[in-house]
Amino acid sequence: MPAYEYETHEYDVVVVGAGGAGLRATLGMAEQGLRTACVTKVFPTRSHTVAAQGGIAASLGNMGPDSWQWHMYDTVKGSDWLGDTDAMEYLAREAPKAVYELEHYGVPFSRTEEGKIYQRPFGGHTTEYGEGPPVQRTCAAADRTGHAILHTLYGQSLKQQAQFFIEYFAIDLIMSEDGACQGVLCWKLDDGTLHLFSAKMTVLATGGYGRAYFSATSAHTCTGDGNGMVARAGLPLQDMEFVQFHPTGIYGAGCLITEGARGEGGYLTNSEGERFMERYAPTYKDLASRDVVSRCMTLEIREGRGVGKEGDHIHLHLNHLPPDVLAERLPGISESARIFAGVDVTKEPIPVLPTVHYNMGGIPTNYWGEVLAPTKDDSDRVSPGLMAVGEAGCASVHGANRLGSNSLIDLVVFGRAAAIRAGQVVDPDTAVPSPNMRSVEMALARFDGLRHARGQVATAELRLEMQKTMQRDAAVFRTSETLAQGKEAMDGIADKLDDLAVTDNTLIWNSDLMETLELANLMPNAVATVTAAEARKESRGAHAHEDFPDRDDENWRKHSLVWFKGDEMKSDLGYRGVHLDSLTSHNEGGIDPKKIAPKARVY
Ligand SMILES: Cc1cc2nc3c(=O)[nH]c(=O)nc-3n(C[C@H](O)[C@H](O)[C@H](O)COP(=O)(O)OP(=O)(O)OC[C@H]3O[C@@H](n4cnc5c(N)ncnc54)[C@H](O)[C@@H]3O)c2cc1C
Repeated sequence: MPAYEYETHEYDVVVVGAGGAGLRATLGMAEQGLRTACVTKVFPTRSHTVAAQGGIAASLGNMGPDSWQWHMYDTVKGSDWLGDTDAMEYLAREAPKAVYELEHYGVPFSRTEEGKIYQRPFGGHTTEYGEGPPVQRTCAAADRTGHAILHTLYGQSLKQQAQFFIEYFAIDLIMSEDGACQGVLCWKLDDGTLHLFSAKMTVLATGGYGRAYFSATSAHTCTGDGNGMVARAGLPLQDMEFVQFHPTGIYGAGCLITEGARGEGGYLTNSEGERFMERYAPTYKDLASRDVVSRCMTLEIREGRGVGKEGDHIHLHLNHLPPDVLAERLPGISESARIFAGVDVTKEPIPVLPTVHYNMGGIPTNYWGEVLAPTKDDSDRVSPGLMAVGEAGCASVHGANRLGSNSLIDLVVFGRAAAIRAGQVVDPDTAVPSPNMRSVEMALARFDGLRHARGQVATAELRLEMQKTMQRDAAVFRTSETLAQGKEAMDGIADKLDDLAVTDNTLIWNSDLMETLELANLMPNAVATVTAAEARKESRGAHAHEDFPDRDDENWRKHSLVWFKGDEMKSDLGYRGVHLDSLTSHNEGGIDPKKIAPKARVY
């Protein structure tokens, strides 16, 4: 291996990621007077958060009665009783404060007549502990809420003198011999230099891993890099089997076609031209719930009635609707279909596929964002020097299923919580720890190994094999057989990481190498997902298992953990208990424990 030179940087805190979670953490840390660096592989306002349209949940009660206890109840039920109670309480209770802070930072929320923040209804958000009518809880800046939040937080972070390192790719965590995180090694994409960031606290805010699947609504940059780094550092990933699917992503591109398209009268057909949803859901048909429609589409494809050359997708028809209705009510969708599927929606159906939309699982943390390294005796042991927030983290507030608009609020509540906690545990007056050179050497050696990989398999080829396998065997439709088949296939595919061929070994704008690093991160995410899914013998939230159709609280109300051994793709499985205690007792104004006791999840 050549001797790599690298530039060193010392900070109190280094945040990896500049989406909503990373920017909220960066801003909070800098506000506390901590010297803070934010490293990001894309320009901050190009992070996937920018694509979030619908809004951000908080019980402001601007459009009618609401309370944080009702928001908490909905979140507990949405999670199918797998979320951690303390974290879900913290989320619901702190949400209004976090949204008002955003407002004061300058997020241009839409307004009511009286000038209050406008809130819209969203699925699963109710009043009176699910007994009352739906509530308008989702605060929105038109249909560009994520965009508005990102731009505001970036501006505020610059104002607080946070230092940004843009288009720096984080390769690996630097860990001390006794398991404390000491920073991160990065590669500057535009000039090929390497950079070692040493810090007292490292915060992973690297987003989800939608790109482990063939079809995802998330950006191509959502490759679970933080999760991959954590897995290589010997720390576990939690609840990875819970992956949320949206029924209508555009085939191939994955871009979202909103539920509104079926709301306006759109319908799905199979290769026989049959409106198959009439058979599965005679009452609600194409408007049955997201998980149900996704499962039926997948069944049709599996039984050989998919459309297209490979019979691997479904048609969504809007072409029977009057062109003026399409132009007025669904202009965005018509444009997406034209650009990403080459389809004129007034004449032809749109090719669609159930598409990965969100990862409930990730790096286990407590509700302060501190990463957990559970042992047999202490399932809440904190891993020193390391935090995780946003979609990369698993606090866990979404449990087995996330409610719409609860992710944006998760980003800002826990980004803020991590900053508050860092203010307590990071002492700006102490010296930054000097990095463990063995860990630095290991990170460099892995980087060099991939840079000079001379095997037989191209990165793009192996990535496609992984994505197709995950889409086929570990997506919506899960049986003991498909999951066992998926696990076996993924173990084989993961082994091929050792046989990769990287054709370009320069260091400047080397997208071949970057995509290879991303694939090496996606792989443990994919393996952990199928491993935990194969083991979970029940149906809960997004994990619908055909052979075990019921939720089994007695045996399975527990978080799955998957560990890897360093760079090896061999995984170990374990579990930790769900936190059942609230932070505030009932007589202190907290939620009545009886209200959140498990029951069937029906809407
Ligand atoms: C199309 C779409 C619509 C959505 N709509 C909503 C909605 O209306 N409401 C809602 O609540 N949720 C919504 N969601 C979910 C929500 O937007 C995401 O869960 C959330 O934005 C994730 O934010 P994040 O900060 O965790 O990560 P991201 O926004 O994905 O940012 C990740 C950051 O990490 C950086 N990064 C990653 N890897 C590396 C590396 N190796 N080195 C350096 N930097 C790295 C990236 O550069 C980026 O800055 C939507 C999601 C999608 C895909």
